[in-house]
Amino acid sequence: MVLYQSLYRQYRPLGFEQGFVGQEHIVRTLQNSLKTGRLAHAYLFSGPRGTGKTTTAKILAKAVNCLSADGPVSEPCNQCELCMAVNRGNAMDVIEMDAATNRGIEEVRDLRDRVQYAPALGRYKVYIIDEVHMLTTEAFNALLKTLEEPPAHVIFILATTEPQKIPATILSRCQRFDFRPLTEGLIAAHLQSIAQQAEANLDPDAADILAFRAQGGMRDAIGLLEQVIAYAQGDITPEQVWQALGTVDKARLAELANSLATKDISAVLKLLDEFGNMGLDYRQLLTDLLELLRERLLQVTGARKNTKLGENLIIKTAPEIMTMMDAVAAGLQDSRRWTHPRLAAELTVIKICNSPGPISEKARPAKAVTKARQESASVTQEKWEEILSLVKGESISSYAWLKEAKAFIKEGDLMLEYPGNYKLHCENIVKPEHRQVIVQAFRQVLGIEKFKVITRE
Ligand SMILES: [Zn+2]
Repeated sequence: MVLYQSLYRQYRPLGFEQGFVGQEHIVRTLQNSLKTGRLAHAYLFSGPRGTGKTTTAKILAKAVNCLSADGPVSEPCNQCELCMAVNRGNAMDVIEMDAATNRGIEEVRDLRDRVQYAPALGRYKVYIIDEVHMLTTEAFNALLKTLEEPPAHVIFILATTEPQKIPATILSRCQRFDFRPLTEGLIAAHLQSIAQQAEANLDPDAADILAFRAQGGMRDAIGLLEQVIAYAQGDITPEQVWQALGTVDKARLAELANSLATKDISAVLKLLDEFGNMGLDYRQLLTDLLELLRERLLQVTGARKNTKLGENLIIKTAPEIMTMMDAVAAGLQDSRRWTHPRLAAELTVIKICNSPGPISEKARPAKAVTKARQESASVTQEKWEEILSLVKGESISSYAWLKEAKAFIKEGDLMLEYPGNYKLHCENIVKPEHRQVIVQAFRQVLGIEKFKVITRE
């Protein structure tokens, strides 16, 4: 009997150096402490879903216990009895708990009794508690008691998507590692390598769509790839991705975008009707529309070459595209409040069609636009904050130079405007080391790579 194994399990990295994706800063630190033998009793792995927290926890559990050497190793052998037991998920010394399903104090009390026993085979008993923020207050208190006086042979690895919900008393006893969301480029590249191993031919545009859909999570990305591989015959094209994921085909979606651009309300409503009859999810429709517009934006700004996606859209300038994206994104946000997503979708398209100008400013929240900027589109506060936080995560000094700027978009370029007496900022922000960091954030959030620095008199 052949046991079915998901792609995610099949291609999950088994060691730090086996194609571990995107968290090199964490891997390096962990390997150093394994080499020097400076291990903590408790680790906190925080970060969005699918960024490698439990995968890393298991590799660490193997590395401290691996039987290929007399002490912890910086890379588990994956061949000894213990490594293989962890890989099979039945190692006595590596105990996995999911706090999302196991919130109770009993389990933690039970754990307090059991940590006293020495490990069966390895050097350490490793407790991996996933979604640890879900524990009840009582359970946290019981856990804290154990963390206050941990037996020498015990290591806790706490994983969470919401570190802010963990009591400070617990946090202060953990060595903390923040897992970053993975970039689309990294995800797309990893999907390509998995597709190759699975002997599937994945079109680069198709990989990009999957990576975008996954929103920074590798597990979701691989799950989507799996769906598409199961569906596709032969090569995996963008069309097949759209079809496999149960979304409207791109030509029809482009028709919708074009009708919106020409403000042809009757054509737009007719299309919505049609999609409804096909049993389409309206929220998904708005998401897909957003995705198509984004592809178009990347195309017209030159951020992505060789992409055919979005080329049949009549909407041509970056400000126009971004205005429409803002309106669609607002509609998508609103749709969560509505019992009937269709109403939200209709309201969104009617708003776009009824707005004055080529595509109006009305569909977006009213904002004071200064006289000098009337020809341009503003960068929303939300997007600017997203950019700043990405930059801050990469380099504090780049962040310091960037945060004083006002950003807006003019003729497809991002303008960074500084007060006239901020000469130092203007000089520094264009230096290669900062340029590299900020352009990456601009590309990720706005799909724009080019920027100009100007001063305000
Ligand atoms: Zn081993």
